[in-house]
Amino acid sequence: MKAVYIHIPYCIKKCNYCDFTSYSLDSSPVRPEDYVVSLKRELQMWSEIRKTSDEELSTIYFGGGTPTCLSTELLGEIMNELRSLFRISSDPEITLEVNPGTINFDFAKKICKLGFNRISLGAQAFQDALLKSMGRIHTVKDIHTAVYTFRRAGLSNINIDLIYGLPGQTIKQWKESIRKAICLEADHVSTYSLHLGPSVLWGKQVDKEELVLPSEELVVQMYVEAIRILSDSGYVQYEISNFSLPHKKCRHNQVYWKNDDYLGIGAGASSHVEGFRFHNTTSLVDYCSSLDRNELPIFEKVMPNRAREISETIFMSLRMMEGLDITEFYRKFGVRIEDLYGQEINKFLRWGYLEKRGDCLRLSCKAFPVANSIFMEFV
Ligand code: SF4
Repeated sequence: MKAVYIHIPYCIKKCNYCDFTSYSLDSSPVRPEDYVVSLKRELQMWSEIRKTSDEELSTIYFGGGTPTCLSTELLGEIMNELRSLFRISSDPEITLEVNPGTINFDFAKKICKLGFNRISLGAQAFQDALLKSMGRIHTVKDIHTAVYTFRRAGLSNINIDLIYGLPGQTIKQWKESIRKAICLEADHVSTYSLHLGPSVLWGKQVDKEELVLPSEELVVQMYVEAIRILSDSGYVQYEISNFSLPHKKCRHNQVYWKNDDYLGIGAGASSHVEGFRFHNTTSLVDYCSSLDRNELPIFEKVMPNRAREISETIFMSLRMMEGLDITEFYRKFGVRIEDLYGQEINKFLRWGYLEKRGDCLRLSCKAFPVANSIFMEFV
């Protein structure tokens, strides 16, 4: 086990498009300090099951929600627990997701002191009107302040998250957002297209035709522009949605894309351990009461069948620019990928959507905008 994810399910207020497990701080049924007690209990239980002191962690990721809703004292308690239960590598990547509207210099200094060395900033857009319509609590000025504050505090690895395909978003605004992230010298930029679940406010409004999303053509154009602008500025696209300066790839996300093992701690968190997928309950009350009874708060435990493991391995690998290692695939599953999907592979090679480089199969640039349709053929 190289990776641990810690889920902090609190936000100042819920955004209009969000279906992550997160609760507004004001109305949460469980206080953050009680939640952290349960988090530490879950870590201890996994540590007893997995003998984690024998395993070296190379990446830790605090996501949410808004982890920066917690005080530095509570974040420090979790870090101390991790340090006492796991062996952490000498050069770990320790990421904290940050909402730009929630920090100041004192907070940033303390975060660095706790050992966090990577910040993932949920900027999302660089237009106040768009941020307001999304229900974000921050402004464009807050994004700039957050980046300068963390740099001044000594942080040298900053990711900026951006979303495209927002209602009312123009291509001009999207290009401006990317350029502003570059001007802020982001080390890493993640670009996500808006995905709306049926239960979120915007999803309901779209269903009732009260809200209009940009056309599919415009969304594809936005994605293509992101690739062009970021590549022209020296960023390497190493995954469908992720771009980094040299040596600044996100180690943690690569664990997910390579289908490696990781432990997810917290309400709504998922784990992948020795072939099993575990999903924790999303209810804060159930999460804490399970742990009070010394029971892991697992809501679902699934052993994916071989066909599903194969499909997942193929499309997760194809998300990455390094692609799928054909020999490694044979070693893992005992069957040649060409024997399973020869027809599909040949078709996509002919169409120029797949490329074969040595022992690797990967998507071509032309395939990125239609990647999801290609993945569907391997499911
Ligand atoms: S800040 Fe992030 S996690 Fe919280 S509600 Fe908004 S999108 Fe969801």
